[in-house]
Amino acid sequence: MSGPRPARLSMQQRPPGRAVGGAMGWGAALRVLADMDGVLADFEAGVLRAFLARFPGEPRAGLAGRRGWLPKEQHQAKIPLCHAKIVSVYESPGFFLGLDPIPGAIEAMKEMIQMKDTEVFICTSPLRKYEPCIPEKYKWVEKHLGPEFVDRLILTRDKTIVSADLLFDDKDTIQGVEPNPSWEHILFTCCHNKHLELKPPHRRLQSWADDWRAILESKRRK
Ligand SMILES: [Mg+2]
Repeated sequence: MSGPRPARLSMQQRPPGRAVGGAMGWGAALRVLADMDGVLADFEAGVLRAFLARFPGEPRAGLAGRRGWLPKEQHQAKIPLCHAKIVSVYESPGFFLGLDPIPGAIEAMKEMIQMKDTEVFICTSPLRKYEPCIPEKYKWVEKHLGPEFVDRLILTRDKTIVSADLLFDDKDTIQGVEPNPSWEHILFTCCHNKHLELKPPHRRLQSWADDWRAILESKRRK
């Protein structure tokens, strides 16, 4: 999914105040999407912590043994009856708001939004049981990143229809109605995907301490 970026409108002056202005066509700006759970907010650690608090003594799969995408499937593989308990943990009030930031994520986002010719948005898929998940996602963004990023929060169950140059996401396969998304998916390393071997041209970001700036630069039009 990497390759030359499609032609866009010519460069326009960025208006003052950093209002969200994609529709105005800041043609030369690199557009970056960052997923939320597993990239900005530590969903996996939050599930484990909340599960242990709510069901002390219950057997569970630790983070080190995680393989594959859905935590409920992971835990179900080891403990057939705890599916509903896992779901109940992340559907509980306060779960999403209480997630810790992934190390370095806040600093990276705040640096990225200040970069010249760069537009950054948060692109996240809410749970189907959308309350309290959705309001808590907004509150989390405001709490950790500030109101500027609240304006940049995109909630969608289908990320393939969102237009951008890059998508940092911990989900290994991102599919939807658009078979050829405009973005290059950069797999953000997480406990459930670290065992996957990516074939070129697919790329990873190991953490926010990894060189995300070089990945952005690699997508800019020369
Ligand atoms: Mg994610």
